[in-house]
Amino acid sequence: MSPAQLRVLRADIVTLYVDAIVNAANSSLLGGGGVDGAIHRAAGPELLEECRQLGGCATGDAKLTKGYRLPARFVIHAVGPVWRGGSHGESKLLASCYRRSLKIAAEHGARSIAFPSISTGVYGYPIDQAAHIAVHTVREKLPTLPGLKEVIFCCFSHNDLVVYESVLLATGAA
Ligand code: ADP
Repeated sequence: MSPAQLRVLRADIVTLYVDAIVNAANSSLLGGGGVDGAIHRAAGPELLEECRQLGGCATGDAKLTKGYRLPARFVIHAVGPVWRGGSHGESKLLASCYRRSLKIAAEHGARSIAFPSISTGVYGYPIDQAAHIAVHTVREKLPTLPGLKEVIFCCFSHNDLVVYESVLLATGAA
């Protein structure tokens, strides 16, 4: 079986034709700014209606909804940690977001998934450390989920793109 492809793209995640996009949500799941706001605007009001039924989500965990008006079939709402200096379990919680999102995507038959750079916007996680955790966690988890064929790290800024590309290169699969 061919291994899943890991790719880095600079794009607005709401435009991607993948089975699932991941949202960097907050624990209320009731919408916010950044990528969360963009996803809710593009998906339409039905997304918020479904999110209201979910009763929030713990940090480090994720929950799935439909994608409504998005090209993506599913949105997986992952709640990343707020950066508080690095000694408050942030790295474990961030890695958990990636693992949980991949598992939930696979359970719903997704073959392709796109992640934004969770926690690195308003939540303040340093991009270099966050990119390492994202890439290493996905690489480690993918062999257990053979249905997933493509994982995209969707960067919003040029700087983030450069960081993710260098991490992927350094770990041998750009
Ligand atoms: P958090 O609260 O988890 O930090 P943010 O939405 O503030 O979430 O930022 C997470 C990342 O998503 C940042 O790198 C930000 O630049 C990026 N981002 C913002 N809007 C979009 C978008 N439309 N598509 C992809 N990434 C986005």
